[in-house]
Amino acid sequence: SRELAMVQGALELRTKTAEDVLTPLSRCFMLRADATLDFATVSEILRSGYTRIPVYEGDRRDNIVDLLFVKDLAFVDPDDCTPLQTVTRFYRRPLHCVFHDTRLDALLEEFKKGKSHLAIVQRVNDEGEGDPFYEVMGIVTLEDVIEEIIKSEILDE
Ligand code: ADP
Repeated sequence: SRELAMVQGALELRTKTAEDVLTPLSRCFMLRADATLDFATVSEILRSGYTRIPVYEGDRRDNIVDLLFVKDLAFVDPDDCTPLQTVTRFYRRPLHCVFHDTRLDALLEEFKKGKSHLAIVQRVNDEGEGDPFYEVMGIVTLEDVIEEIIKSEILDE
């Protein structure tokens, strides 16, 4: 039944982790911190269809420093060619990080508590020769967790 499947999905939140449901960094739509909010960039943002966009500094996409909400563009006129940083410094959207092995039930609680429903997923990379370092794997949103509950329902039908 649908109800049973949803309960099953909910129970799976205890065994699955952020890593299982994240959107990998390579597939994230992001913006460079030094971007200009000209017509081309604003169009690209709107075309992406995402409501929250991670902002990275330099050439490293894993160096996420800010989050842009599409609604933050409400007062931006593309003709002004506003620097993206003017907007991110005004709104200062908080960045939330979680570890890759965070269980989905814990993540759901985090999302319920917090204001942001998007988190950066990181892990400690200690595979190489050098010192261990934090590695950004991707992003996870409330939607990804909900999807996990709904999925077993869809499979069941
Ligand atoms: P949105 O509100 O932007 O549609 P959701 O939170 O509903 O985002 O998430 C829908 C899916 O899109 C999830 O799998 C999530 O990981 C992914 N996602 C969210 N933001 C981005 C982004 N900027 N780039 C790529 N994928 C994203």
